[in-house]
Amino acid sequence: MLKPQKLEKVLIANRGEIALRILRACKEMGIKTVAVYSTADKELMHLGLADETVCIGPAPANLSYLHIPAIIAAAEVTGATAIHPGYGFLAENADFAEQVEKSGFAFIGPKADTIRLMGDKVSAKHAMIAAGVPTVPGSDGPLPEDPETALRIGREVGYPVIIKAAGGGGGRGMRVVHREEDLIEAAKQTREEAGAWFSNPMVYLEKYLTNPRHVEVQVISDGQGNAIHLGDRDCSLQRRHQKVLEEAPAPGIDETARAEVLARCVKACVDINYRGAGTFEFLYENGRFYFIEMNTRVQVEHPVSEMVTGIDILKEMLSIAAGNKLSFTQADVNIHGHSLECRINAEDPATFMPSPGMVKHFHAPGGNGVRVDSHLYSGYKVPSNYDSLIGKLITWGSTRDEAMARMRNALDEIVVDGIKTNIPLHRDLVNDEGFCKGGVNIHYLEHKLANQ
Ligand code: ADP
Repeated sequence: MLKPQKLEKVLIANRGEIALRILRACKEMGIKTVAVYSTADKELMHLGLADETVCIGPAPANLSYLHIPAIIAAAEVTGATAIHPGYGFLAENADFAEQVEKSGFAFIGPKADTIRLMGDKVSAKHAMIAAGVPTVPGSDGPLPEDPETALRIGREVGYPVIIKAAGGGGGRGMRVVHREEDLIEAAKQTREEAGAWFSNPMVYLEKYLTNPRHVEVQVISDGQGNAIHLGDRDCSLQRRHQKVLEEAPAPGIDETARAEVLARCVKACVDINYRGAGTFEFLYENGRFYFIEMNTRVQVEHPVSEMVTGIDILKEMLSIAAGNKLSFTQADVNIHGHSLECRINAEDPATFMPSPGMVKHFHAPGGNGVRVDSHLYSGYKVPSNYDSLIGKLITWGSTRDEAMARMRNALDEIVVDGIKTNIPLHRDLVNDEGFCKGGVNIHYLEHKLANQ
């Protein structure tokens, strides 16, 4: 039984499905909630369920959900004791975490220094190497500007290589280089982009893996020396580096490599004194894992890990932020069955253009092993200002086939009328021969779409 000590009132610094997810966890634990919203979001479902609501600004995110003084002021006027950032927006902004704590609120996530360490991909990689987590072979630190040294590193690593911005994110600031003669120019261009986009021109180089899968490890750590993993997830079905459909556990992974990487991630959490929920992202190729980055927040796809472990990640985050130790040990974590998640986006299934507007009718699917995390309701108007994710359809089954059959049913039952969604794409994917077999790589979806 979780017993939060000092989390009396949590301000939810987010919107949409994750705001509702956080609110549900707070309510279950008897914690009061403050929902904040922009003027474009007056109709959000969780506003009607929160104890208090505060409008924090106009529609543009930089004037509301990204506006730190407005969020801290809302916490002050409502007497909130803690702030949950959700994902996106300010969730991985170390300055925000720092200001939240300096203002006397608990930040429901890691310490600002940890976010900073992991937010810089070069320092993150160093920390992982020190903790014994396997990484992609590459430059040991930043790629030097001196052409001769850079060319020597490229030769040692072997082509193709990828040049990545230390401060990069969202799939931007990366360049694949196939031939030595292109290295110097590619490094120069990536440095320029990185300086402009991330205010940090530092780049590094690593081996470009040609056929990897995206496999990630969910961890929770209490910042008091205790850490556990909740197994892995496969998120290889991506379009433009955006995840589309995820599952847990990742199918067909070498068991020895899996056990090793899970243990290394737990050790890394202890080594960096990690606090809260986090995800280690890996590329997996030829039976080996290669760390690419850590997300220091709850992720969109966290429900699939909840479904196979029975552990409520959000409640555990809240408990840890209240100063409690982890409420269970690794021995209590049993991976049971299989879970899939389809991200439902308000977008054209063919062109992927956003499709905001009024949801004339919404019908949620149901049945054994079906979970819907969504803020949709009939009559809700999806605003055009934010991410197009409108919900997540999650299924669980005792086997992968059962989870897949339930997902097919759920996708047949779900109705979202009035706007375009990517539901037809998901219906296609859960019947796709390659995906049904399991273990497709990160290029699979793009190739499939290109060949249609
Ligand atoms: P971001 O923070 O922008 O998401 P990541 O480091 O997570 O950047 O990389 C995003 C994606 O780029 C990965 O999911 C993968 O598809 C591709 N990628 C990154 N590094 C490599 C690599 N060394 N080899 C092959 N693909 C890579």
